[in-house]
Amino acid sequence: MSRGIVWFRNDLRIRDNEALYRAVEDFDEVIPIYVIDKGLLDVRDYGSAKMGTFRMTFILEALHNLWSRLRELGSDLIVDVGYPADVICRYAKEMEVDAVYAHKEATKEELEREKELGQTLGAAKLKFFWGHTLFHINDLPFEYQAVPDVFTAFRKKCEKYADIRPEFPAPDRISTPDLKTDEIPTLTDLNLTPSGGDRETKLFTGGEDAAWDRLNRYFWKTESLSSYKFTRNGLLGMDYSSKFSPWLAAGCISPRSIYYAVKRYEDNVKKNVSTYWMIFELIWRDYFRYVALKYGEKLFYPGGIKGENPNWEDDSELLEKWKSGKTGVPFIDANMRELNTTGFMSNRGRQNVASFLVKDLNLDWRKGAAYFEEKLVDYDVSSNWGNWAYVAGVGNDPRENRYFNIMTQAARYDGKGEYVKHWFPELSEVDQQHVHAPWTMSSADLSRLGLVDSAFAHPAVVAKQWKL
Ligand SMILES: Cc1cc2nc3c(=O)[nH]c(=O)nc-3n(C[C@H](O)[C@H](O)[C@H](O)COP(=O)(O)OP(=O)(O)OC[C@H]3O[C@@H](n4cnc5c(N)ncnc54)[C@H](O)[C@@H]3O)c2cc1C
Repeated sequence: MSRGIVWFRNDLRIRDNEALYRAVEDFDEVIPIYVIDKGLLDVRDYGSAKMGTFRMTFILEALHNLWSRLRELGSDLIVDVGYPADVICRYAKEMEVDAVYAHKEATKEELEREKELGQTLGAAKLKFFWGHTLFHINDLPFEYQAVPDVFTAFRKKCEKYADIRPEFPAPDRISTPDLKTDEIPTLTDLNLTPSGGDRETKLFTGGEDAAWDRLNRYFWKTESLSSYKFTRNGLLGMDYSSKFSPWLAAGCISPRSIYYAVKRYEDNVKKNVSTYWMIFELIWRDYFRYVALKYGEKLFYPGGIKGENPNWEDDSELLEKWKSGKTGVPFIDANMRELNTTGFMSNRGRQNVASFLVKDLNLDWRKGAAYFEEKLVDYDVSSNWGNWAYVAGVGNDPRENRYFNIMTQAARYDGKGEYVKHWFPELSEVDQQHVHAPWTMSSADLSRLGLVDSAFAHPAVVAKQWKL
């Protein structure tokens, strides 16, 4: 009788899960385990928690869904809180397992967890699979250490020389010993306070089923995919972009599954530049993961992978204003309010608030990245830190000193001020000309609109590039 553990990590799914698929093939009995990492619950970095409530809520929902799917297949799921090496080793010993199967991660702390487990368990008993990217690491047309430093070169070579592997089917049945599993912990058990998210602000439900519901809506029901390239810079509503990111981050759906769904859509509905662009963006996601793997802990250095020597201000009051959406610059504050209320922010918003923090407030980009780590429901180590470094000018942006002019961006992407008015109804009476710079109104108008004492009349910074 052979037995294997599947250590679920950021791969909370049954379909296209190679670690699970191989374990079912290789062992008579399979024991699925998820460890809620105590190391993430207890630690704060740059003043921000490493695990926030939006993401934890999503993960707990995903675990409930995974549990019920595993049960349908005759299996079960152990969910325990602790350090992965301790928990997995304890079960491995108690249940006399032959090996542990899991998906490999790419970033420093996640790789340390793997090393710790290998040391406690014995490396021979631990087997990893590569399952988080579109292009498999062994199919890249270069070694990962030689991943090009410019995205376009990476993309073109991958598109030309690498095939995308087929998905692994979900197992038909999983044989699992009687595990006498406990209930999955709640947020309160984990000492986390539920965030204000109510029915209106809760955008996402964790789990593989919800991931496929979202895909079915975005692709088949609304056919939003057909116009994705032209709507993806939107700010308001659910369907301007796919919103796949929370499910991809927790692994409720794989990028390969999305890729093959795009191909089915192209065959059955429409093939155009928008359907290609969805794949293009998934290649960006791959890129940041491979860059993280290539550069290791350098990604987290102040000067990033470029090894720059930046000179940031250390102004905690200013940082607090940025975090809480009280800088007085409506386009920044509205995006931060969205993040703080829902755990999500559009890509356009993320680029702007990140650039503002670094280039206009001159604060350390890592403090912004750490705050995103706490708040984002879709937090992904490589995508977050890679994008932050990119915008801060210490990452993979080939353009020197790219600057997002917040006023130009706001005018371009929120010309009528609908987005800022959505998050700040007190701006609803402000005319189009002043809505993104209310402090430029006359004192009489500020007073008439009740804004004279608000941050909007006294912004934290007015950059000279804005040319107001
Ligand atoms: C400062 C900053 C921080 C970010 N932090 C994260 C993060 O923690 N987690 C995360 O998933 N994304 C992050 N992104 C990338 C991007 O903003 C989000 O993936 C995207 O907004 C999610 O919305 P969507 O799923 O509707 O995207 P869509 O536009 O529908 O794109 C489809 C998918 O492609 C991938 N993708 C799109 N753009 C990017 C990108 N620039 N980099 C990497 N992958 C991309 C995502 O997986 C996304 O779900 C960050 C971007 C910036 C500028």
